Amino acid sequence: VQEQYPDKAQIIFFTPQGVGPGWGYRAQVFPALEGDGSRLVIDLSCAFVNTSPLPDPGSFTFVKGSGKKLAAVIDPGHGGSDPGATAVVVEKAVSLEVSKRVANYLQAAGVQTTLTRQDDSALSAEKRSDLTQRVALAEGKGLYVSIHANAAPASKINSWCGPEVYYYGPENARVLYPVPSSVALSQPVTPTVADYDLTGDMLRPTSGDPGYTPPDENSFQPSSLPTPTPQMDSARRMELSRTLASRVMSYLLGSTAAFNRGVRSADYYVVRYNTVPAILVEMGYATHPLEGLNLRDDNYLTRISYGIARGILEYLENDYPGG
Ligand SMILES: [Zn+2]
Repeated sequence: VQEQYPDKAQIIFFTPQGVGPGWGYRAQVFPALEGDGSRLVIDLSCAFVNTSPLPDPGSFTFVKGSGKKLAAVIDPGHGGSDPGATAVVVEKAVSLEVSKRVANYLQAAGVQTTLTRQDDSALSAEKRSDLTQRVALAEGKGLYVSIHANAAPASKINSWCGPEVYYYGPENARVLYPVPSSVALSQPVTPTVADYDLTGDMLRPTSGDPGYTPPDENSFQPSSLPTPTPQMDSARRMELSRTLASRVMSYLLGSTAAFNRGVRSADYYVVRYNTVPAILVEMGYATHPLEGLNLRDDNYLTRISYGIARGILEYLENDYPGG
């Protein structure tokens, strides 16, 4: 929409995401290519986010949740010999940094918080054993939040950006992995089919992306795999996980003004084989040239951390059924 005035012009853009002063777009005025006028250049990008310092959010006080035992597990994805996505930023490093900050916010609010790792290490050199041990830390706790940075396929590195929050939903209830519950924690296990998914990251389109095609379930023989045993009250756990995912995404977007790639369901190990409501947060794309830089920005990491923590706190206050 353009309206003409003798000395000015008004241009109105309708954008698929919110924009505001300092985020969502950049406008610059340059000299005209010819003559005396000026040239207005407006860049729109999903990676223009709020990187200003986060104002002091004050302390969070539980009202409805005040009598409950509140305990959370925060899982910094990857670690040790597994760096995760390595691009503009290294995933294992940024996931640890944000996880520590999330834990600090939660502890300040009185939530007993366990980190699955405190430094650049894994719980086991073998991936499945590592993930099994991480999930085991959630037993008896209220929730599990795994924190990751994403990687886009080569053709999408300039276009895919923004956070995604995953839970394990009924539409993903397919046989993909042998169930880990019978595996002794100290005992190494042999990776089997689809181990690429165990890292918690997907390099292929997921539900909601253009071009998404469900994995071909006939590409391996289900009969060769043990049958999974049901997890605790799985329908209820799915519902609470989705609620937790929505809370976290809502506050994450609020604190960062990031592009919303959506709350989605997926078959990630740590959200599927968990005993408590569990989500996996992809903070953004380490492969995006601008978002990758955002993920190195201290103010932005604070905003991500606060958004995730606040979403968890709101879940514990409003939705958590625990006693
Ligand atoms: Zn990851």
